[in-house]
Amino acid sequence: MFRLCCGKYSTAVVELVAEKIRNVPAPSAPFVIQDNDNTAPLRYRLFGRPLTKTKKEGKDQEEDKENVTTKKSKKAKKSRRWRCCKNRCRVSPAPQEEETPEKSQDEVVAVKRPMEKEEKPVKDERIPQALSIKMEELNVTTQKKLRSEHIKCLGFPNPAQICYINSSLQSLLTLEDFVTAISHQEQVWSLIPEAAVLRTFKNISEHHFSGDAQEKLRLLAAFKRAVALWAPEFGDHQQKDAHEFLTAVLEQMRYWGPQLQVLTAGMGMAYSCPVEDHLMFKIQNTRTCKSCGAGSTREEDFTNLSLDLPPGGGTVEKMLENYLMETELEYRCECGATKSGQRSSFATLPRVLVLHLKRFRYTPTFQLEKIHDPVDLQRELVVSSGQAGACYSLISTINHIGTTARSGHYICDGVDPDVGPVDLTDRWFTYNDTVVTQTSGVNVCNQRQRSSYILFYRRQPED
Ligand SMILES: [Zn+2]
Repeated sequence: MFRLCCGKYSTAVVELVAEKIRNVPAPSAPFVIQDNDNTAPLRYRLFGRPLTKTKKEGKDQEEDKENVTTKKSKKAKKSRRWRCCKNRCRVSPAPQEEETPEKSQDEVVAVKRPMEKEEKPVKDERIPQALSIKMEELNVTTQKKLRSEHIKCLGFPNPAQICYINSSLQSLLTLEDFVTAISHQEQVWSLIPEAAVLRTFKNISEHHFSGDAQEKLRLLAAFKRAVALWAPEFGDHQQKDAHEFLTAVLEQMRYWGPQLQVLTAGMGMAYSCPVEDHLMFKIQNTRTCKSCGAGSTREEDFTNLSLDLPPGGGTVEKMLENYLMETELEYRCECGATKSGQRSSFATLPRVLVLHLKRFRYTPTFQLEKIHDPVDLQRELVVSSGQAGACYSLISTINHIGTTARSGHYICDGVDPDVGPVDLTDRWFTYNDTVVTQTSGVNVCNQRQRSSYILFYRRQPED
């Protein structure tokens, strides 16, 4: 399915990068602490010193001060960004609806939020009570309008059937640690100009909160071109499969990992592939001969698992169990027997587990049809790996709205990135291209039973 021209660019890229590395000046990215001390480790000069406060003497102390200042300003910057987010968060849960229509109207409904201290109107005794009430109403209306604007900013325009791209992006942008891991290593991957998928994704992540639709259009087009360069099937303006697109994006991001690791190792540095760190996992397949019991094992890398829907539907847990359960395999063993059993298990567990629900199938007459059977979207999922196990929480879904496999519309639901791992608010957003509405995890699980297509589960922190 995935058609990467592996090796095609290797020699040219290595030469180009080697040339760049020779000429690379001290980095000047915003997060890098400029270090004039040439004796400092190269990784600090390329990546910046770790932003941690430690006790040092003399010059180091000054550097630490600078570090702390930068950290503070960075924190302040982030808090400004999240303040915008906090404003948009305090709106009402979306109404209980069956499913979002294909082209839903802007139905953002804001409600009264707890007033922040500085916003509390001072009640002037001289103002008549009726006028005072009127002012409060106006205040609330203004706040509603402002919050609606903030939510709208999170959307992506859809000029030509790119809802599959928009939904895939919104799900990936929900993975805050993954996004951070990409942007923090820009100094490394930017050494390879062909790593355009990383660059364009990072650009989009930086403009996620922007209200500049034209700029977003430009960035989306650049991202689409970057993906299509290596996966030409995404080059036209037809609707595509969101799962195939997401897989292509992740594989392209991952492709540069080995080259970057080799390059940086020669420089005494390290590159950590964000896809491998956050989404990759290994499945171990064990084959056992039904006759003599001889067996063999092999491991495969995955960025997501494709699960069959049981007839009539079922739970995500059941679908995962079915995937792992033993199946019969045609295999000629050394003993001469041809029947083997094959069993799969997780050899490693990812931080984010992506599950693809196979809602499309071919009929006996080779017609592609959609399966509308309901899936019980469990909020929590326990996954075992050997002796260990981990608990995962549902944090995002990509949904296919439509009756046929050949047409329809993709939308995405994602947990509000502003809430922490322990979320008591259950605040989610529904991203329908430019239209972004607030919802809740409970609503998502109820409404998307028949349309959920790709699920993102985040591993819960261990106690
Ligand atoms: Zn055998």
